[in-house]
Amino acid sequence: MKFNTKTIHGKQQHDPSTGAVMTPIYQTSTFAQSSPGVHKGYEYSRAANPTRTALENALAAIENGTHGFAFGSGLAATDGILKLLKAGDEVIAMDDLYGGSFRMFTRIYQNFGLKFSFVDMTRPENILAKITPQTKLIWVETPTNPLMKIVDIKLVCDLVKDKGIMVAVDNTFASPYLQNPLDLGADIVMHSATKYLGGHSDVVAGAVVVKDESLAEKIHFSLFAGGGILGPQDAYLILRGIKTLHVRMQRHCENGMKVAEFLKTHPKIGQLFFPGLIEHPNHEIAKKQMKGFGGMVSFNFKSGKKEDAFRFFERLKIFTLAESLGGVESLANHPASMTHASIPIEIRTEQGISDDLVRLSVGIEDADDLLADLEQSLD
Ligand SMILES: *Cc1c(COP(=O)(O)O)cnc(C)c1O
Repeated sequence: MKFNTKTIHGKQQHDPSTGAVMTPIYQTSTFAQSSPGVHKGYEYSRAANPTRTALENALAAIENGTHGFAFGSGLAATDGILKLLKAGDEVIAMDDLYGGSFRMFTRIYQNFGLKFSFVDMTRPENILAKITPQTKLIWVETPTNPLMKIVDIKLVCDLVKDKGIMVAVDNTFASPYLQNPLDLGADIVMHSATKYLGGHSDVVAGAVVVKDESLAEKIHFSLFAGGGILGPQDAYLILRGIKTLHVRMQRHCENGMKVAEFLKTHPKIGQLFFPGLIEHPNHEIAKKQMKGFGGMVSFNFKSGKKEDAFRFFERLKIFTLAESLGGVESLANHPASMTHASIPIEIRTEQGISDDLVRLSVGIEDADDLLADLEQSLD
């Protein structure tokens, strides 16, 4: 089955009890048993719920894995993965990272005895320099948030393949439409399903997909015993979103490219971060491992002034100033004070998340309207 068909039919079945074409929302905490331990596969909704199962199967199908897991948020999914580790274990993570992941690593898990190093994985040799016998997990994010760096997933996986180190990829920015890390050798793929998978800015959810039976058991245990499950209403919304993922992503990619090309020629724009441009330092890797370049575009101002960025945000009419990304509507975000405010200023500055940096989540409106909005606001 090819990808577009999989988003709609992959590992899905009509509801076995009624034939309902779309999986119903099984709004129940518990399930009747005819004799102790005798039931139809469901006992209690923390362990499994039919609406969540339908979503988890769909997730596995579109990420080319064997098992999917639906968590209550993207960060709950990340948390569920980190709980596979124990005190003393070491994690090597990408340096340009979603702010909430960085916050969890340094302000929660560091207190539990996990050790983290953050390296620029666009140079994979940086990973080798940090590997010790205690290294258990490599945490990749690509494209990165907000600077759109691209990490060569296959190269990273090949580097650590025979070392007993797991590779997990935060695939939120690409979505399974553009990139499938399990096919490139990763052990775990994770999503904030809040973003492109849901696609309509109406639900917070997280996803994990694996392709190994024993790893699947461990993740299920982490979800079930840790408790960070996704509820049936929200599972339904993500399942519904996935069915149009391919159509939405095509348009996000088209509009993302048009916005990037417009910004490239605008006299007020300083640096532009979009992997679809030939000038992007990781463009070749992006071309190799992604089916398209997505709808996320970041830039800063030639003036370097925070005030210019703020004036730009205030004048936007179609783009909405808001956190989050990946919905049908276009959003603009100021990483330094919004999504990445939890990263200490010294680290932020070192990484290039300057006060005049703007991150756009380009939606699926008419591109002409989006370009006109950017133009009037920049003027
Ligand atoms: C939003 C986001 C997360 C966190 O997901 P939530 O659903 O908000 O918990 C993790 N990684 C990336 C890249 C994100 O954009």
